Amino acid sequence: MPNEVKEELVPCEVCGHLVLRNERGFYHDCPNCGWRRGCDNSAMEQQLHISYPMVVSLSHAKKQYRQGVPFKADFNEFIRALLFYGEMQFDHKSATYCVVAYRDPDGALINIALCGETTRQEFRSAEEFKEQAHINGKKVKNIWDEINDPRYM
Ligand SMILES: [Zn+2]
Repeated sequence: MPNEVKEELVPCEVCGHLVLRNERGFYHDCPNCGWRRGCDNSAMEQQLHISYPMVVSLSHAKKQYRQGVPFKADFNEFIRALLFYGEMQFDHKSATYCVVAYRDPDGALINIALCGETTRQEFRSAEEFKEQAHINGKKVKNIWDEINDPRYM
């Protein structure tokens, strides 16, 4: 007899709508607000001020839900997620960009690389990445509104 995976309904972390969760800890996407939950994001916010897999922190996501705007991490959340996870992506216009944080075997940051089809930039620190990363000469920090779907790779 195949093992049936038991499911239960739990409130969405963001909007409170009921979401299916199975006994292995997998959550279905929230049918009301679209929030995707991969872990306990209140705990993740306390530790890292981000979430998984949505990147945007839970408190920020709740604010966006109340305002009726799509979930999207801000630049600081994106950078925190980069330092935590190591490999991120975002889209700008029709192009996809990758951002990778390289570390030595002891975990110390070596550099951060921003790669797109027509650019490769390297930065020595998260601060330098934040201040200097650019797309076609426009600083990413100044055009974050034009950046789509900042996400884990
Ligand atoms: Zn929801």
